[in-house]
Amino acid sequence: MRLPFLLLIPGSLARYSIVCRDVGGTNSIENAIQESIKMARNARDQLADLTKDTTAAAFNPLFNPSDVDTLTNLYDRVVNIATSALQVTFYCDSAFIDWSDPFSRWIDTAFTYTATDGKTKSVSLYKVGQDRSKKPGSSGSFTTLGYKLDLPNGDVADFSNQAHIMVSETRWDPPKNDGLDHRPLSTVNSDGLRDGYTALDQLKPLSETVFHELMHAVGGTVKPKSGRKRITDDPILPVVTEKIYRYKLCVEVNQARNDAAAIAQGASPLTRAECPMILAKALYLQVKGQKTYWGTGDVDRGTLGPAGIPPPSTGNKLRRKEIMWRA
Ligand SMILES: [Zn+2]
Repeated sequence: MRLPFLLLIPGSLARYSIVCRDVGGTNSIENAIQESIKMARNARDQLADLTKDTTAAAFNPLFNPSDVDTLTNLYDRVVNIATSALQVTFYCDSAFIDWSDPFSRWIDTAFTYTATDGKTKSVSLYKVGQDRSKKPGSSGSFTTLGYKLDLPNGDVADFSNQAHIMVSETRWDPPKNDGLDHRPLSTVNSDGLRDGYTALDQLKPLSETVFHELMHAVGGTVKPKSGRKRITDDPILPVVTEKIYRYKLCVEVNQARNDAAAIAQGASPLTRAECPMILAKALYLQVKGQKTYWGTGDVDRGTLGPAGIPPPSTGNKLRRKEIMWRA
C-alpha cells in the first residue's frame, strides 16, 4: 500500500497545484507562491499598527486607514491559499486555452463541475477573449475565476471554487538585461539593493506576478453567476485613464478615490490588483534588516530613506488638473 505514504507527504493537502511541463518553471512558481504567502502574512501583521514609521511610509500614499479590514481579509486568503476552499491551479503556458469556432471565442477548457448524474464534467464554455489573433497569455499573465453558469439543459455548473492563474514565461524565465531586478524579495532583503535598482517598480520578482494574480483570484466575482472579477486592472475613467499597473498609478487611484466618477464605479485601490500587491511588497522589503521607508516608491540606497519627489497630498487641485490633462 503506497497511498498512506502519499498522504503523509507535506504539501499533499495543498489546495493549489501547478500544471507545468518545465521543471524549472514549476520550481520557480512554487517558490514564488511561498514568497507570496510570506509577503501576505507580513503585510497582515504590519497592518495591525499603522503608526509604526516604516509601515506608515509604505501605507499612507497607497491606502486609507478604513481599508485595513478589507486588506487584512485579502492577505488572509493568500496566507491560507493551501487550505482554503478556493482551488487555485497555476499554469506556465496557455495550453488550457483553446479557440472555439462555434462561439468565436477563446475558451478556458480546464474548469470542471459535478453534473446532476454525479459525474465530473468540463464546463467547456468560459470565454476569455474574442480576438483570434491574440491568444490570452501571449502578452502577459492572467487569471480566470469560476462562478455558477446556467447550462442550456437546465443544469447549473458550479465551479465557483476554482481559479486558474496563467503565469507568463516572460515572468518565470525573464529576459536578461530588461532593466529590472528579478531576484526574490527575500534575496533583496538579505543581499541588499543593486545600484540603479532602488524603486519598487524596478524590482520584479516572480512573487510580484503571482501575488498580483492571486489578488484577482481571492477577490472573488461581482455576482455569483458572473465570471466578472471584483478586483481588476481597469482604468478609472476619466480620472485615471491607464490600466492600473505600477506604483505611481496606485497612488493616483488612492488620490482619486473620492472623485464622483470613481465612487460611481466602485473603484478604489482595494479593487485594483496591483495596489494591495505593491503595499505587501513594500512592507516586506526591509533591506538588510534596516528600516526602509517606501514613502515615494523609491529609496536612497545608502540611507534607505525615501528618494525622489514625494507624492502630492490628497485634494491637491493642481495635481488633479494634471491627472485630467492626461485623459
Ligand atoms: Zn491583473
